[in-house]
Amino acid sequence: MTPAERQKLETIETLASSLLARHLPQWSFSFNRQRRTLGLCRYREKRIELSLQHALAGNLDQAKETILHEIAHGLAGPRTGHGPRWQQVMRDLGQNPRVTAKTEYDLDDYTWAIVRKEGNDLHWITGRYRRPQRTSHWMLRGQPHTLGTVYYCRFSDYAAFSQGMIPFAEVALYQ
Ligand SMILES: [Zn+2]
Repeated sequence: MTPAERQKLETIETLASSLLARHLPQWSFSFNRQRRTLGLCRYREKRIELSLQHALAGNLDQAKETILHEIAHGLAGPRTGHGPRWQQVMRDLGQNPRVTAKTEYDLDDYTWAIVRKEGNDLHWITGRYRRPQRTSHWMLRGQPHTLGTVYYCRFSDYAAFSQGMIPFAEVALYQ
C-alpha cells in the first residue's frame, strides 16, 4: 500500500467515525476484505463496514455515499431492506434514496441467500428472511439457460464463502 493510499483510508475512516458519532453513536466502523459488496451493515455487531478494495478504487464522495447508505440501514433497523422506512431515513440524511447497482450489494441481515451456482462459484441474486420454498424451477428473468442453477443457502455460509473464509465445498446448497 502506498502512502497516498494509506492516507486515503485514514481520511475515509475519520469521515466514517464522525458520521457515526453523529448518527449512530454506539456503532463502530471497519474496512473488510469483501470483493462483491461495497458496504455492509451488521446490526448485531452494530458495525458499518466498507470494502477496502472499493475504498481504494473509488473517490471520497463514493465512500461517503456508501457509508451513508449503510448508516441509513442502521437507523432504519433490521428487516426494512430498501423499503419506505429506509428511503425516509436517506432523505433525512440529505441523500437520494436510490439504490444503484454499485450500492445494492449490501447484505443487511438476511437469514438466507438466493444464489446462482456457476461451476464452483456463487453469484448473489437476493436475500430472504424466511427459508425459501423450492428453487429448482427458478431462473433469472428472461434467461432460460439459468433454469436449475438457482440455489439457496444460509446467508452466513454465503457471506463466509464470498469473503474467502470457507471453500465452495463447505457451503450447504439447497434447491
Ligand atoms: Zn442497502
